[in-house]
Amino acid sequence: MKVVLANNLGFCKGVEKALEKAEKVCSEAENKRIYFFGEIVHNKLVTDAFIGKGAMIIKSPQEIKEPGIVVIRAHGIPDKDRKKLLDSGNEIVDCTCPVVLKGQRLVRESDIPVIILGYKGHSEVYSLCGSSDSDVPVISSLSDLDEILPGRYRGVVQTTFSKPLLDKLIEKGRGKGIEIELVNTICRASIVRRECVEELAEGVEAVVVVGAQHSANAKELVQTAIRKGCPAFLVENENSIPDEVFAYNIIGLTAGASTPESQYLKVKERLEIR
Ligand code: SF4
Repeated sequence: MKVVLANNLGFCKGVEKALEKAEKVCSEAENKRIYFFGEIVHNKLVTDAFIGKGAMIIKSPQEIKEPGIVVIRAHGIPDKDRKKLLDSGNEIVDCTCPVVLKGQRLVRESDIPVIILGYKGHSEVYSLCGSSDSDVPVISSLSDLDEILPGRYRGVVQTTFSKPLLDKLIEKGRGKGIEIELVNTICRASIVRRECVEELAEGVEAVVVVGAQHSANAKELVQTAIRKGCPAFLVENENSIPDEVFAYNIIGLTAGASTPESQYLKVKERLEIR
């Protein structure tokens, strides 16, 4: 099987920086406790490697019994959790991606009501909502707009949100008198990877995206290929490639922004020996 790699794939700058900082914490912590607030990035291999270096993954500040160093994930955390961590004597190493920090700032400083355009339940959306003192509605689908009253809103977008869905939401909102003053914070890394998949999809029989099943940017790469009329598959690693992929002769390979190079190269190798 021939495998063609996307021109841009795998770790983005935000992930690289977050991992560099987290590695430094693990190598310099000496005998301090190390906690990671959620997965530093959406990748099991990466998370497991940090657990192997002594990090404990927590989901809330209440889980910490003995203060230590808390590494904040690339998707950020709500302001109230940050405050609790500091108040209980922890040191914070903030690995929040600068693009997410910008979104949080926009929510915090908005002088009109905010809505988040993003996926409900995603850790970044949770952190964006947590940058406001009031309840912030999250719009993930067209039907969510039915719950919003007409008026003017600041729209802050999840960094990995779908652009075609965003466009539809804005259009439907306008028709219902919901004027969304949009700050499009879909990040450059997501945009570039999607453009590369569009190019890739034109010259291959199917696309394989290597990434976590819960990674928004990996899932959107799959949808991008499908919109171009190309079958696409999301696989975690070389052992989880569906049988139907092996029926193709030319595969385009890409990887989400949290997928290490070693992981997608193993998938490439596995496809090529077939
Ligand atoms: S995908 Fe975008 S927002 Fe997420 S870490 Fe990378 S650059 Fe930052």
